[in-house]
Amino acid sequence: MQSNTEHSQEYVSIIDMTLPELVSLMEGIGQKKFRAGQIYEWIHVKNAASYDEMTNLSKDLRARLAAEYPLRLPVRETVQISKVDGTRKYLFRMHDGNYVESVLMMYHHGNSVCISSQVGCRMGCSFCASTIGGLTRNLTAGEMLGQIYAIERDFGQRISNVVVMGTGEPLDNYENVVRFIRMLTDADGHNISERNVTVSTCGIVPGILRLAEEKLSINLALSLHAPNDEMRRKIMPVAKSFSLREIMEALKIYYEATHRRLTFEYSLIAGVNDSDACVRELAQLLSGVNCLVNLIPVNPVRETGMTAPDRRAVAAFQKKLEKCAINVTIRREMGRDIDGACGQLRKRYTETDKL
Ligand code: SAH
Repeated sequence: MQSNTEHSQEYVSIIDMTLPELVSLMEGIGQKKFRAGQIYEWIHVKNAASYDEMTNLSKDLRARLAAEYPLRLPVRETVQISKVDGTRKYLFRMHDGNYVESVLMMYHHGNSVCISSQVGCRMGCSFCASTIGGLTRNLTAGEMLGQIYAIERDFGQRISNVVVMGTGEPLDNYENVVRFIRMLTDADGHNISERNVTVSTCGIVPGILRLAEEKLSINLALSLHAPNDEMRRKIMPVAKSFSLREIMEALKIYYEATHRRLTFEYSLIAGVNDSDACVRELAQLLSGVNCLVNLIPVNPVRETGMTAPDRRAVAAFQKKLEKCAINVTIRREMGRDIDGACGQLRKRYTETDKL
């Protein structure tokens, strides 16, 4: 099988393969077709951590597969567990030595995992720790699935919601992310409902339009962070390529295709995007759009020098927006005690090689 992105360094492993691809592989190595179904179930339903667990395969086949098609699942390097709410922040080591962060959050409605879609990121948002070292490489579909399977094994409970909101820009790794979503929601696989999957993007318009054509009922979140292009360009380089007008048009098309309510993420940065004028412009931009605004008091990252407005100012911003008939939530602070901003655990780890 060929790697399906322009980043040729990606290794495609057996966990990246769909069931039909696995059937071809089995036939190609002289095995019966039904072996594919067995292996697929072990990997994608039973969360097997090694071929040794696949007890309905012969010992010879297990040994051959282990030698020729290593599973290469992410290995847990560290986990930080919040004493406040049990949130777990995982650092995984990938087969090539790269590190990736994922977060498990417990809600009343179930367990939610926030996964990374790339090692690093090249989008350059000024408030974000994940982008400081640039993009190292894309993650494959299997490496995204592997984060979820490893967390389920570690935590011992099923994950019901998945958000692609960790390190990386999912629409900058389009094919792998769509393959990941199709496999994650496959009825023969992990079978997570499309409606319980959310992809967050900084606003890559061609990617949004392409996603609208996939016939996937997944949720889309847009990282807005500013109510006009001028302000947005100052904190998000991607805004130089796509205007808010183009983005809103693409989101409208996405909404018409999926009828999923849109989410707009707005990280509040003191003195940058928290003025009354911002409230008015935001309300105007979003008027008539079926959406939810998710306010995130910005997580301070040492390198950026940015701070969040105080609690009262955040609540006041919410109130003023609500007065303009916009649905607004303030992101619950999960794992406050362990929380560095996204990407900080990996960054700290790779810089010092140890925590
Ligand atoms: N690249 C994607 C997804 C990853 S970031 C995107 O841009 O949407 C997930 C969310 O966290 C985005 O809204 C991002 O802008 C936000 N974010 C990144 N760093 C942050 C910080 N220090 N404080 C608050 N939000 C942050």
